[in-house]
Amino acid sequence: MKLFTCPGCGHATFFEGVLCTRCGSQLGFAPDILQMLVVQADGTAEHDQTNWRRCGNYWEFNDCNWLVDASDTTPLCISCRLNRTIPDLSVAGNQMLWHRLEQEKRRFVYSALRLKLPVAPKTESPGGLAFDFMADPDPSFHERNRVLTGHENGLITINIAEADPVTREQMRAQMAEPYRTILGHFRHESGHYYWDRLVRDSSWLNEFRSLFGDERADYNESLRQNYEVGPPPDWPEHFVSSYASSHPWEDWAETWSHYLHMVDTLETAWGYGVTLNPRHADNATLFSSPEYDPYLMTDFDTLIEQWVPLTVALNSLNRSMGHDASYPFALATPVIDKLALVHRIVRQPQGSA
Ligand SMILES: [Zn+2]
Ligand SMILES: [Zn+2]
Ligand SMILES: [Zn+2]
Repeated sequence: MKLFTCPGCGHATFFEGVLCTRCGSQLGFAPDILQMLVVQADGTAEHDQTNWRRCGNYWEFNDCNWLVDASDTTPLCISCRLNRTIPDLSVAGNQMLWHRLEQEKRRFVYSALRLKLPVAPKTESPGGLAFDFMADPDPSFHERNRVLTGHENGLITINIAEADPVTREQMRAQMAEPYRTILGHFRHESGHYYWDRLVRDSSWLNEFRSLFGDERADYNESLRQNYEVGPPPDWPEHFVSSYASSHPWEDWAETWSHYLHMVDTLETAWGYGVTLNPRHADNATLFSSPEYDPYLMTDFDTLIEQWVPLTVALNSLNRSMGHDASYPFALATPVIDKLALVHRIVRQPQGSA
């Protein structure tokens, strides 16, 4: 994530910012140009002879800080218009859960836009993307009838209970997962979608199979095995997570998600001027060069060389604050090879996809 500043006064602002805490300007994020703009009291903004207006969900739910091109006939921004189902907001607590989901979703959409990946809503394009944010019909999250988070044919379903930190932590402990976040869910499920878009019918398929395995293996049976028998004991030597060992599709989604963790966290580090690279004496030059932009850089080796020391520092800082490691992963060589393939696939021109 870039570090954003208020165009009114240059003060740093968060990605979620709607108001500059220094000069009092109202702010909004223009996704088409990936910039924070000053918004007038009537909700309009102007930049480079383009006019913008606030997303309809800002007015209706006080939720979204993204802007829409003023000539667009749809009231919602590019992120909000992906929603097919939103939770029943008459139920106490649901608005807060939904709000958290939307915050994290915008971070996922930001990455997709940075990588120039297609993010058209399913309502506008059959191959597009849609989200169902659903609550369990039964208040117990663990019953059989619970809403399963997952992807099918461009539709990503997220159980809104995942936005409740207590429930999520219970799930994480129950599944013995080292890492479980809402953003991680968005990144993982988007991996399934983009596999369909970028790999399934492409010339990448053979190379995918040589690294990830044959995805024609029985999916439900593989998942059942992984759940009942558990992952192979040597999974850390081949997979980024134990769940990745369940099926090539899950391996891809876990690796894809990890790749998005990497480029976005590196971009944040870069945005704050964190120059951390124990291997190079000449850090400053490297980080000030445009080739360093993690979303644009073509050299995967540089990406991984920057990533590993950053994660070690990140974990050490967290431990110093008494928190668990924020990056509970170790990347074996086959995992790095898989990440490198994701890198090559995601860097291809997306027009053909
Ligand atoms: Zn300001
Ligand atoms: Zn919006
Ligand atoms: Zn999955």
